[in-house]
Amino acid sequence: MTSKPIGVAVLGLGNVGSEVVRILTENAADFEARIGAPLAIRGIAVRRVDGDRGVPTELLTDDPAELVGRDDVDIVVEVLGGIDIPRKLVLSALEKGKSVITANKALLAEYTGELADAAEKSRADLYFEAAVAGAIPVVRPLMQSLAGDRVNKVAGIVNGTTNFILSAMDETGADYAETLAEAGRLGYAEADPTADVEGYDAASKAAILASIAFHTRVTAGDVYREGISKITADDLETAKSLDCTIKLLAICERIVTPKGKERISARVYPALVPLNHPLASVNGAFNAVVVEAEAAGRLMFYGQGAGGAPTASAVLGDLVMAARNKFYGGRGPLESKYAKLKVAPMGDILTRYYVSMQVADKPGVLATVAAEFSKRDVSISTVRQQGSGDGARLVVVTHLAADSALSETVASLEQLDVVVNVASVLRLEGTTV
Ligand code: NAP
Repeated sequence: MTSKPIGVAVLGLGNVGSEVVRILTENAADFEARIGAPLAIRGIAVRRVDGDRGVPTELLTDDPAELVGRDDVDIVVEVLGGIDIPRKLVLSALEKGKSVITANKALLAEYTGELADAAEKSRADLYFEAAVAGAIPVVRPLMQSLAGDRVNKVAGIVNGTTNFILSAMDETGADYAETLAEAGRLGYAEADPTADVEGYDAASKAAILASIAFHTRVTAGDVYREGISKITADDLETAKSLDCTIKLLAICERIVTPKGKERISARVYPALVPLNHPLASVNGAFNAVVVEAEAAGRLMFYGQGAGGAPTASAVLGDLVMAARNKFYGGRGPLESKYAKLKVAPMGDILTRYYVSMQVADKPGVLATVAAEFSKRDVSISTVRQQGSGDGARLVVVTHLAADSALSETVASLEQLDVVVNVASVLRLEGTTV
């Protein structure tokens, strides 16, 4: 005897939604066998219901609120995008006890707290594997597989657009604007690329990762953020000469302040990464996340961080979990926020800097520049001079120092007569000295 179907509402039929519906439809028998009951798509919400959308027209609706509220809908899959509309729809679903699967990192990075509270109250599931790094399982490993361990650091490449651009600049020597335009032509960058290239998307993902890894609510506003739009072909060239490449990193870290207080850091910026670091070889639109846990040691997750089908894979894994819980009873993991750790300001974080500056052709330049570093207890690891005369460039790489001391040093260098301009400042990650 076939069990009663579990009703699913799919909100959105774009890149991700259309793949969710396709795979669900093509593999319906497998889904039923894995869950114990068939899944029945009750409706698909879109803006535009007319024309051939590749799905039965009777399923289409432009009224997502009505669809979410239907009595025969048990699980809501939110793949709309945006914040305000999905927030209302997801909240209303959770308040009615319906489980929600969402791929929406922007929504979660702002409102996880509110949504998790609603899920807890109505004992519904809220799953979001697809919101971080597309197909790559990283949310569930952090939340469940590593629930018995203590995670100290999560660092990764979580934005495919910026990784595509930086990898292409590294490979071709082309400049940023030209490579961004090419990424747009190839479909790797959106018409308005701001969310990707200025690091907002990665910051949302960092907030989600830090929340889970450190059992603390972290929102996008807590994440320090810099994008890649100022990276030049020269920076990549210099990175190469230092046996490094440049990657936009999302870093979530447990730290201890000089006064012994435990804090967390969540930050996104382009950084020099040594070529022998595992993240240096993650190229093109691929994503990777490295997790460091006390007992497990270092773990690395790698794969496709975006795209309709890869993202649908993560959404559907969540859907099977939520449907099994509906069928057998029970719930997925609740939000874990007991640690309530404070987020440290960027200035307190220990980092290494690479500073590239154009200097005047005068005697004593090196000593004057070095003095600015030493005044703030910033120790220099290497200095290189490139070129000569008035076009000479000085490239300084520091040891670890407080980020505030490093940024003060850079500000003071800009005021020196012997420094024509500070062309570039980047942090160096993946080393410990
Ligand atoms: P998309 O291609 O723009 O599709 C959005 C869909 O939602 C469209 O079908 C659109 O309808 C529908 N929609 C939007 N607002 C609506 C409204 N107010 N009422 C009814 N329908 C509405 O977006 P996507 O790329 O699939 O992304 C969806 C979500 O997944 C986003 O939160 C995104 O951040 C997340 N995500 C995407 C990827 C990826 O690779 N694309 C990866 C990870 C996570 P019409 O078709 O009629 O316009």
